[in-house]
Amino acid sequence: MNEDKVLDHGFIRLVEFMGGDMGVVCAARVSYGSGSKGEEKDKKLISYLLKHQHLTPFEHAVFKFHVSCPIFVARQWFRHRIGSYEMGGFDGSGLFESSGSAINEISGRYTEVPDEFYVPHQWRAPDPKNRQVSQAAPELDHERCTALVEKLHQQSYAIYRELLSLGVTREIARMVLPLSLYTQFYWTVNARSLMNFISLRADASAQWEIQRYAEVVADMFAQQMPWTWEAFLSCAWKGINAKINAERERCASSP
Ligand SMILES: Cc1cc2nc3c(=O)[nH]c(=O)nc-3n(C[C@H](O)[C@H](O)[C@H](O)COP(=O)(O)OP(=O)(O)OC[C@H]3O[C@@H](n4cnc5c(N)ncnc54)[C@H](O)[C@@H]3O)c2cc1C
Repeated sequence: MNEDKVLDHGFIRLVEFMGGDMGVVCAARVSYGSGSKGEEKDKKLISYLLKHQHLTPFEHAVFKFHVSCPIFVARQWFRHRIGSYEMGGFDGSGLFESSGSAINEISGRYTEVPDEFYVPHQWRAPDPKNRQVSQAAPELDHERCTALVEKLHQQSYAIYRELLSLGVTREIARMVLPLSLYTQFYWTVNARSLMNFISLRADASAQWEIQRYAEVVADMFAQQMPWTWEAFLSCAWKGINAKINAERERCASSP
């Protein structure tokens, strides 16, 4: 299983994958009763489809990810309705589905949640010109910020445990835990929706933390669907992300 670490305790695992570039090609050509016509023509077809917004063939390639991230990142992630989610620890609502993708999350009603909290490596400050963007801030008192948050984590987790030991049910005791707590979920999503996620969440306008997750998702996408990834970079990606923009330039300059 393909796994990448993200932030201090998070990860993304690619659990399952089906379809791929050839799945897109075959779906697009099914109306003509044909499949692959060789690498060059197939790559051209994928670029054509993306460029002209013929996007349903990309729905035949499907990824299932296992994600561990802070709750505040998961809240942003779950706004992406075209996907399926299974939540395994904190939310506890079980499966909820939206058309095209699914998420299930870990249930804090049924399991005692571990004391795994996100602490930023570097604290960031608001960009003075753009409210959606943050920036590195060496002038901040990083030690103080970290100490404050670590104290909160220790205190809130101690209260959580004490409530449990007093006999309070897990589903209500968890309310004292902060948004920095890690949660886990399964996310099944097709390549069309995945490209939308990368476009929105790998871009500099998204929160720094979810950008890191979107970059890992993009890497896994590129590995599984290299032709679609190249077409995405040249026809669809308009964002600002140093890593992805460097990749786009590398692809554009390669023969
Ligand atoms: C930088 C940034 C800042 C944000 N700030 C805020 C904020 O301040 N407040 C806030 O509430 N949200 C905010 N969001 C969330 C944002 O509004 C979207 O909910 C989220 O990005 C999901 O995008 P989406 O709808 O394209 O994805 P999906 O829900 O996965 O939908 C994918 C696509 O399917 C189509 N689609 C899905 N559902 C429908 C529908 N019901 N009707 C028509 N078409 C549909 C659309 O074409 C859509 O783009 C922010 C997102 C980003 C990236």
